[in-house]
Amino acid sequence: MKEKLLKKEMSRTQIEKKIKEFFNDEKFKEKSQKEIKKIKRLAMSKNIPLKDFKKLFCKYCLKPYSGIEKVRIKNKIKTIECSNCNKKSRWRLKD
Ligand SMILES: [Zn+2]
Repeated sequence: MKEKLLKKEMSRTQIEKKIKEFFNDEKFKEKSQKEIKKIKRLAMSKNIPLKDFKKLFCKYCLKPYSGIEKVRIKNKIKTIECSNCNKKSRWRLKD
């Protein structure tokens, strides 16, 4: 019985919950790039938008931002430079 349950595909609600828990984890900053890749793929499989969660990690190398990155805000555009790959991500700040 248990095995059957494991093989069953997760529902959208279950996956949404899993994603939320993943990003809200106190130890999120210690997550590996592999784990982020996995959760991203999971979200994509159900077309679940990551929305603000996307701002918690580098979109190029998938490393979680730890707070030591260079951040610049200009004209309501926030630029964050990844400390791992040095690539910059930008997003518009909400009013
Ligand atoms: Zn990076």
